[in-house]
Amino acid sequence: MAIEGNRWMVVLAGTKKDYPSTREDEFLAFARSLPDATLYETIKEATPISPIYGYRRTANRIRHFEQLKRYPEQFLVLGDAACCFNPIYGQGRTVAALEALMLDVCLGKYRRQQGFAHRFQRKVAHAIATPWQLATAAALPETKENLTGRVSRWYLERLISLLPTDQAIWLIFLEVIHMLRSPLALMHPRIVASVLTAQKHISSPENAT
Ligand SMILES: Cc1cc2nc3c(=O)[nH]c(=O)nc-3n(C[C@H](O)[C@H](O)[C@H](O)COP(=O)(O)OP(=O)(O)OC[C@H]3O[C@@H](n4cnc5c(N)ncnc54)[C@H](O)[C@@H]3O)c2cc1C
Repeated sequence: MAIEGNRWMVVLAGTKKDYPSTREDEFLAFARSLPDATLYETIKEATPISPIYGYRRTANRIRHFEQLKRYPEQFLVLGDAACCFNPIYGQGRTVAALEALMLDVCLGKYRRQQGFAHRFQRKVAHAIATPWQLATAAALPETKENLTGRVSRWYLERLISLLPTDQAIWLIFLEVIHMLRSPLALMHPRIVASVLTAQKHISSPENAT
């Protein structure tokens, strides 16, 4: 990603024990092992201006405070305390900011009403639902899931495999992930057609190094 001062920020991520290292040579080797060589070719001659930082607390975690039978008044939970995402999706701050805006509106409208806190907590749960679905749909292959979950995963995995080569889909995917667009944008007929005809080549435990 291009950032200020003619510099680039590079993030590599792995799954299922196939992780990038924080050692420069191994980091480059990981980039080289990707199905698409563009990133490796771009960074192999670049000059690092910082060490490589690693981060492995990547679990998605949701807490259903809104389901409490008795809810304490004046107790509000938002941000990561309510729902924490794998940072790879870049959603946590966006969700926290949306919740803060929602809190501002709700305080203006209902702050003196009985049950304000529980009502707000249900709104938080509603705001979290879509990003949670997006973050977890392609991330929990080992969990038991219903048909909708399996179809969502199948669709998302194929769609993700198109991202390195289809810039239009990549931009729409980014806008959805960053909550600038509805996830329905991923069901545009052109995208559905591309997904259905995609040759899937996602790294799996079998071909991980
Ligand atoms: C590596 C990484 C990359 C990320 N990248 C992105 C991204 O690109 N885009 C994005 O949207 N989100 C990203 N996130 C997620 C984002 O940082 C969080 O979702 C967001 O900061 C959550 O805001 P918060 O206010 O809930 O919690 P925090 O930002 O964690 O704030 C909580 C604060 O409470 C303080 N605190 C904790 N305990 C106590 C205590 N007992 N007493 C007093 N203070 C306390 C902490 O010091 C901290 O300052 C990333 C997260 C990580 C870890």
